[in-house]
Amino acid sequence: MKKKCKKCGSELYQAEDMKWFCLLCLAKEIEARDQENAVKGTWRILEPETTPVTLRLSEADLAKAKARARKLGKPYQTLLKDVIHQALS
Ligand SMILES: [Zn+2]
Repeated sequence: MKKKCKKCGSELYQAEDMKWFCLLCLAKEIEARDQENAVKGTWRILEPETTPVTLRLSEADLAKAKARARKLGKPYQTLLKDVIHQALS
């Protein structure tokens, strides 16, 4: 008797403990967990802790930041973060 995965519809396999499992979904789950670990483990060590802040910018400054960010090919929030970091260090 064959069973199908409810999530992706592919064939299920039976493990030694008689539980049915989907190879595809299992692989996806492991991959997602690995990526999460990679972000938490490696990336977070390189980047200092961040806190989201809300601040009011002049429209002119924001427009300039967006224009420059577009030229540099990075998000304007990142550009602003760099500018603030440089000004403070
Ligand atoms: Zn599946």
